[in-house]
Amino acid sequence: MVDRISGVKGMNDLLPPDSAKWEWLEARVRSVMQRWGYHAVRTPIVEPTALFVRGLGEVTDIVEKEMYSFADRLNGDQLTLRPEGTAGVVRATIEHNLLYEGGKRLFYVGPMFRHERPQKGRYRQFHQVGVEVLGWPGPDVDAEVILLVRALWRELGLVEGEDVHLELNSLGQPAERAAHRQALIAHFEAHADALDEEALKRLHTNPLRVLDSKHPGVQAVAESAPRLLDFLGPESRAHFDGVRGMLEACGVPYRINPRLVRGMDYYNLTVFEWVTDKLGAQGTVCGGGRYDGLIEQLGGKPAPAVGWGLGIERLILLLEALGRVPEPDAPDVYAIVPDAAAVGPAMVALDALRQLGVRAVLHAASDQGPGSMKSQFRKADASRARHALIFGADELAAGEVTIKSLRQQDAPQQRRALAQVQQWAGELLARDDNP
Ligand code: ATP
Ligand code: MG
Repeated sequence: MVDRISGVKGMNDLLPPDSAKWEWLEARVRSVMQRWGYHAVRTPIVEPTALFVRGLGEVTDIVEKEMYSFADRLNGDQLTLRPEGTAGVVRATIEHNLLYEGGKRLFYVGPMFRHERPQKGRYRQFHQVGVEVLGWPGPDVDAEVILLVRALWRELGLVEGEDVHLELNSLGQPAERAAHRQALIAHFEAHADALDEEALKRLHTNPLRVLDSKHPGVQAVAESAPRLLDFLGPESRAHFDGVRGMLEACGVPYRINPRLVRGMDYYNLTVFEWVTDKLGAQGTVCGGGRYDGLIEQLGGKPAPAVGWGLGIERLILLLEALGRVPEPDAPDVYAIVPDAAAVGPAMVALDALRQLGVRAVLHAASDQGPGSMKSQFRKADASRARHALIFGADELAAGEVTIKSLRQQDAPQQRRALAQVQQWAGELLARDDNP
């Protein structure tokens, strides 16, 4: 026996029946995006390392310790598996001059990579849905992207304010942050004895991140720290009030969290997270905000932007915890073929049924042949099909097929003429009255 090769730690295979949940979720996402006028983008998974170092900020967790970076073996280029989606979308926007004719509403779905300690809700390859709205400065688009998330929750059967909670903050503009930063450093220095090593290190490089610490002692000091919100000038405040007003008008409950900061340095003004208490420490399902400086920072003509990223694994875990994931796609019918002569007619009938929209699976034979009726029915049950179609010799001799419910054992069997496939397809598809 040769050695077995396992997958990479923290990177998961997505297999049936779970893959059906993902297909369902992604289809709901695409449907919402279309209704909101957002356009899909697909950018490469590999980008130049410099894009993330410059875009996310050198002293962020992601850039300091979480990136999968490597040199191209053939030409030595420094490359990185994307840890997030925004930088790549912004690079593409600049490279293809996408804002030439005005703003753009974009979305993406795909894998991201971060070298973190794998645990429930935290993986090394994970998947995000994200939106980026580029080119518009006003609080209306901030409110819009948040409302879009609410629409997604509703599409998936989640209730905002119950299953998921919106937290909101404003980081103001760079000058406001600089003034706050001085006050923050002074505050932390005065309480240096209560800080852990991580916080002491961050204190001068990125003091805002200390507010985000998970360490209880540091959290206590952060609790009494000067609030960035108190440093906002009139324009920033008006922007924040604008976002709040529109959320309130649309009936979105939220909580202002003055300590909400995000893991990337590119944010300004509005930042937000949708959180849940059902997933332990991995409670942030969706996070985002405004990033007006990033396009210029990456070499583009200055333009405002706002966006968010949502973790699909965490969203699936949340839906599962709440029992809201629909059953994975089960076929409508499973065709039982007692002997080889039935395969041809069954294939013809199923082909017609599928064209009419029926989900149909044909029993496949093993080396030993098609197997007994009993074993075929076991397969039919395992497939979770609603009905078995029995293509027996009797039936075929009469130009018929037997339809048997697999869900209601006492339901009578029915014989149908093969020629009337259209009619029985209609009955099979009327699922509500025919469970
Ligand atoms: P956290 O604080 O949990 O580390 P984050 O602030 O690093 O999250 P973002 O970079 O804002 O997360 O990414 C947006 C979303 O992507 C998160 O809210 C989360 O749902 C998801 N996410 C981030 N990192 C991971 C990961 N390693 N595994 C699974 N999902 C993740
Ligand atoms: Mg993180």
